[in-house]
Amino acid sequence: MTEAWFREELYPHWRQSFAVSRELYRADDGLQDIVLFETPGFGRVLTLDGVIQVTTGDEFIYHEMLAHVPIYAHGAVKTACVVGGGDGGMLREILKHQAIQQAVLVEIDAAVVEFCRTHMPSVSDGAFDDPRTEIVIADGLRYMAETERKFDLIVIDSTDPIGPGGVLFTEAFYKDCARCLTPDGIVVNQNGVPFLQGEEVTDTWRRRRPHFADVSFYTAAVPTYVGGLMALGWASHSLRPRHESSDTIAARFQAAPVATRYYTPDIHKASFALPKYVQNLIPGP
Ligand code: SAM
Repeated sequence: MTEAWFREELYPHWRQSFAVSRELYRADDGLQDIVLFETPGFGRVLTLDGVIQVTTGDEFIYHEMLAHVPIYAHGAVKTACVVGGGDGGMLREILKHQAIQQAVLVEIDAAVVEFCRTHMPSVSDGAFDDPRTEIVIADGLRYMAETERKFDLIVIDSTDPIGPGGVLFTEAFYKDCARCLTPDGIVVNQNGVPFLQGEEVTDTWRRRRPHFADVSFYTAAVPTYVGGLMALGWASHSLRPRHESSDTIAARFQAAPVATRYYTPDIHKASFALPKYVQNLIPGP
């Protein structure tokens, strides 16, 4: 019989609860309220300000899809920037690719990095200490506005657009991402669950369209992000990466494979097929 439950109240009309085997850590570093607990179904669960960020049970789906889809679509990613991502899971997946020369993690909250390094080491799996990793503790909005660097891949692995993550959904931020991208470079981000957060898809499209030639979305089903498919945002100055053929993606995967549990070249292509209710949230071509 489970005695304690964690209840996530992200939406006014829908809540989800997790049985808690034991709470492992709780801290408020002044920026965000950090809680880690263990649950029978999903392993260790990290929450920030009461919102689930990562579970060791299903994080592989989210991280693989935000890392490998753009990397295989681009075909020659050497430099990557992860904005947010303090748990290290995105770095882990990106660094599986031997061709990556540098991965910069721009995380606003040093406590999240230290906390995850200590209490959820399986998520980063050594990625924080990889010689190709550079960790910058800064607000992603500010970093992107000030840096002169160019990246082949920018992954916005942020919290939802509430709290410190809100700035990572603004047009000003997307404009700077566009400036910091190489010609075939790609920006991807977690863009909410369209069935419940449909306006995030519409808003992102409107804010990105002026700054990129290709603005689109793809999807993944991540159990803890309830409400059906999750939308993953896509933007590039080039139409080429999103339209690479199935054969090209499969050939790239075969030539430079990485170990995955969700991603396959078939999933890659299929993930760009959007259900009609998601297409309807996109205001234009
Ligand atoms: N997969 C997660 C999700 O969508 O639920 C995101 C996980 S990751 C831990 C999100 C990270 O974004 C947090 O560590 C948070 O501190 C960081 N973050 C929030 N706002 C930020 C900002 N403005 N600049 C950089 N990092 C930010």
